[in-house]
Amino acid sequence: MPLLEEATLLGDVSLNVPVVVIGNGPSGICLSYLLSGYRPFMASGAVHPNPILHNKLEEGIHFSVVDQMMEGSMLTISLNNWMELPGLKLKDWTNGKWRNLMNDRATTEELASYYKDYVKIMGLQKNFIDNTCVTSVSKIQQDQKCAKGKMPKSVKIDSTTPQLFTPDNGLPPSLWEVRGYQRIGDGSHVPFCLYAENVVLATGTYDLPARLGVEGEDLPFVFHNVSAFELAVQSCKVGQASDPVLVVGAGLTAADAVLCAHRHSVPVVHAFRKSVTDPALIFKQLPKKLYPEYHKVYHKMCKQGYINTSHSNYTSFPETRIVSFLPDMKCTLQPTSGRNIVLSISMALVLIGTYPNLSFLKEHGKHLGLDPSKPISCKQNPIDINPYTFECTKEDNIFAMGPLIGDNFVRFLKGGALGITSCLVKRLKEKGQLISETGSDDG
Ligand SMILES: Cc1cc2nc3c(=O)[nH]c(=O)nc-3n(C[C@H](O)[C@H](O)[C@H](O)COP(=O)(O)OP(=O)(O)OC[C@H]3O[C@@H](n4cnc5c(N)ncnc54)[C@H](O)[C@@H]3O)c2cc1C
Repeated sequence: MPLLEEATLLGDVSLNVPVVVIGNGPSGICLSYLLSGYRPFMASGAVHPNPILHNKLEEGIHFSVVDQMMEGSMLTISLNNWMELPGLKLKDWTNGKWRNLMNDRATTEELASYYKDYVKIMGLQKNFIDNTCVTSVSKIQQDQKCAKGKMPKSVKIDSTTPQLFTPDNGLPPSLWEVRGYQRIGDGSHVPFCLYAENVVLATGTYDLPARLGVEGEDLPFVFHNVSAFELAVQSCKVGQASDPVLVVGAGLTAADAVLCAHRHSVPVVHAFRKSVTDPALIFKQLPKKLYPEYHKVYHKMCKQGYINTSHSNYTSFPETRIVSFLPDMKCTLQPTSGRNIVLSISMALVLIGTYPNLSFLKEHGKHLGLDPSKPISCKQNPIDINPYTFECTKEDNIFAMGPLIGDNFVRFLKGGALGITSCLVKRLKEKGQLISETGSDDG
C-alpha cells in the first residue's frame, strides 16, 4: 500500500488510511508483508505436525492460507526457522555464509540486519515511516469529527490502496485518530495526525523495564538494561579490577549480562529471587545442545555460593531479595536464609523483565487486557483478542499481535499476521471493495 513518497514528511500531509500498524519489529514487518498482497500457500509434500490441521490445509491446497477457514490454527502455523519471516530464508539471505553453523543460531545483530533487509527485499519500505513515535490513539465518531472541524483539509488516498471506507459517504461511522511525531535530521519533532479505520498494536513488550521498587533504585549507578553495561565496559568504566557488577534477575537478559561480564573478565555478583531448582527457571526449558552458553550460566548459578567463592569472578545469590541501593555504591541483599549482606559494587543491572509502553492508549490500554483491572503484560495479562481475527474483544477495529497477546516468539507472531490479514481481506470482500490483490503469491 504505497501511502507516502519515501522523502515525504508525515507532518506535510493529512491522511485517511485503512490500517495503521504501530511497531516496526517482526510483527509489524510480517503483517505489512501479508497486507501488501503476498500470500502463503501450503507447499506440496509439506506435512503439518497436527493431523487435523494437515488435513484442513490439504483440502484447501489451492487457496492461500489467508483465504482458508482455519479455526484455532492461527497460533500454531510456524515455518522452519524460528526467527525467519515468510518468503526469505535466513540461510538464503546469508548466502550460505552462516556464522554459527553448529546450531543455526543468529546473533541479534545479524537478525536486525536480516529484518532491515527483508523490508527492502520484499519491497515494503514504502509502507514504513521511520523515526516515528505514536503518542495517542483515540476513537472519534464521524459526526464528532466533522462537528469539531477536525476533518483533514486534503484527504489523500492512493487509488491502488484497498479502501475500507463505506461507499455512501466515503467514510466509516468511526475512525481512529492517530497522533504522534516524526524525528527529522536536525533532531526536531514534526507532529502528525492520521485517521485510520483500523489500528494494529504491534509494539512489543520491551519498552518499559520492570523495577524492583526499592530504596535507591534511581541512583546513577543502577541501570535497567544490558546496553548500559556494554557501554561501561567499552569505555573502561568497569573492568577486571573493579568492584563487582551486581546482576539482578534469573532470565535470559540477566544471563546475557553475566556472559558479557565473563567475556570481559568483570567480576559479577548475581542475585535472583527463585531457587535454582525452580522448574519455572527459563534454563530448564532450553535444550543444552542449542544453548550451551546459557547452560554454562545456569551451572554457575547452581554451583557457586557466597561462602566458598571469595576469589571467584562470579558469585551466585539464589533466593535473595534486594533491600536497597546506597549512595556510596553499596547494595544490601537479603538472602531467604541468613543475614543481610552489604556489598560494594561498581554498578547494578536490574534485569527482571519488561512491560509494554501503551501510553498512547486511554489508561495505557488497561481496558483491552484479559483482566481490565491490571496493566497489560505479556505473561500475566495479555491483550484479550478474538483468536481467529486477532481483533480486541473489548474494542472493534483495533487488533493486537506478538508478545502483547502472549505470542512471545517470532515463529508464533506469523499467526497473528495471518489472522489480521484474513479478517481485513474478508471484510473488504464483504463490502465488495477489494480492488485487486497486489504482490506475489510465492510468499
Ligand atoms: C533478549 C531477548 C531474546 C529473545 N530471543 C528470542 C529467540 O531466540 N527466539 C524468538 O522467537 N524470540 C526471541 N525473543 C522475542 C522476540 O524478540 C519477540 O517475539 C519479537 O521481537 C516480537 O516482535 P514484535 O514486532 O511484536 O515486537 P518488537 O520486536 O518489540 O517491536 C516493536 C517495535 O515497535 C516500536 N514501538 C513501540 N511503541 C511505539 C510507538 N508508540 N510508536 C512507534 N513505534 C513504537 C518499538 O520501538 C519496537 O521497535 C527474544 C527477546 C529478547 C528481549
